[in-house]
Amino acid sequence: MVAIHPSKQDVSDKLFARAVELIPGGVNSPVRAFKSVGGAPRFIRSASGATMTDADGRTYIDYVGSWGPMILGHADEEVVEALRDALARGTSYGAPTELEIEMAEEITSAVPSVEMVRMVNSGTEATMSALRLARAVTGGTRVVKFEGCYHGHEDSMLVRAGSGVATLGLPDSPGVPASLARETTTVPFNDARALQKVFDESGEIAAVIIEPVVGNMGCVPPQAGYLQRVREITREHGALLIFDEVMTGFRLARGGAQELFNVAPDITTLGKIIGGGLPVGAYGASREIMNTVAPAGQMYQAGTLSGNPLAMTAGLVTLKRLRDKTVYERLERSTARLCEGMTEAAREAGVETVTNRVGSMWTSFFTSEPVTNWTEATKSDRALYAKFFHLMLDEGVYLAPSQFEAGFVGLAHTDELIDRTIEAAGKSFRSLKL
Ligand SMILES: *Cc1c(COP(=O)(O)O)cnc(C)c1O
Repeated sequence: MVAIHPSKQDVSDKLFARAVELIPGGVNSPVRAFKSVGGAPRFIRSASGATMTDADGRTYIDYVGSWGPMILGHADEEVVEALRDALARGTSYGAPTELEIEMAEEITSAVPSVEMVRMVNSGTEATMSALRLARAVTGGTRVVKFEGCYHGHEDSMLVRAGSGVATLGLPDSPGVPASLARETTTVPFNDARALQKVFDESGEIAAVIIEPVVGNMGCVPPQAGYLQRVREITREHGALLIFDEVMTGFRLARGGAQELFNVAPDITTLGKIIGGGLPVGAYGASREIMNTVAPAGQMYQAGTLSGNPLAMTAGLVTLKRLRDKTVYERLERSTARLCEGMTEAAREAGVETVTNRVGSMWTSFFTSEPVTNWTEATKSDRALYAKFFHLMLDEGVYLAPSQFEAGFVGLAHTDELIDRTIEAAGKSFRSLKL
């Protein structure tokens, strides 16, 4: 049973007050600051299995899982043990190791479209490098992304679509040159015609980058046949297709979304799970494409800590455990149990929600309409989500502090914890109606 203490958060509040004086917004990544749900963030002291404990000693069932990596659960015994061994051998060499070959073998055997892979230190670095690679290979400049998809914070990806079918990129952040943002065209997700139109109207597109199952507008699956159409359109026009599987890689299946939907991209980006909770990213493709990367080829990309032995160690333990196919069956079962329970609890309380789920990725949107793209996602009632989020937090359940983020179930989420979550959701949904 998870302890519930819906009391004050004195220590977290004090830490937050200290943090905002020294760190922009008090956090090292914006979404952690609770801006979209209000209130001050919980500072975490420790985590174990499917739970996290904050600085005030309160324990939560965690559905954020460090935003995806913690598929085995926190402080997994085997990961911790392997890291302890690795630590004693040194933390970074700046020279190649056998661990990096093992990691490359693990990734290439799981993801058939990837024959060679380069390790980097974050998902952002992976997508940034993948875009450079696509431009280097095709000689094109323009890239197409999808409204609501997130690919890290590199300049050319920080663009938002306005209204209309295809909107030329406008910078989403000060500091992003408009000239660069204009190289990015944004179209709605799940709309193959809009993508076709972009290709009809402009040549020289180097790449189309997509989250094959979107996690970064909340969980939004591709409609039947959509990814196949995206594949056909890009192939017809000689643009490279990049699947950003930083979130979905090893999450939805061992071979990621491309295995689940049976569509092979030209370039794949990975991150999150493959580092087992340590900073990591990777991009991979066919031998032909990857041999463009220095020092095999001319496209420059480097990293002082890339392929770091600790990250490789934690990642390898994680990926080896995910060789067992039943892992994904178990995740499917427990996440279905959670989502069915939450949906039923909302219905009983008379709260309108739509829950999207693919495997162990899920989001309950506070809306009555299906959510298949960004425009539809933004119709959900964010104020209601914020209330629900805080009610759940008081019940000892840590959901994503934003309506537009996916939740994650890991192997440490037992049926008992899931049933506790459903019970907490029932209470919270009923409170929303009071
Ligand atoms: C998390 C994420 C990124 C960025 O990864 P970082 O490690 O945070 O830089 C890129 N793409 C997708 C799909 C992601 O979910």
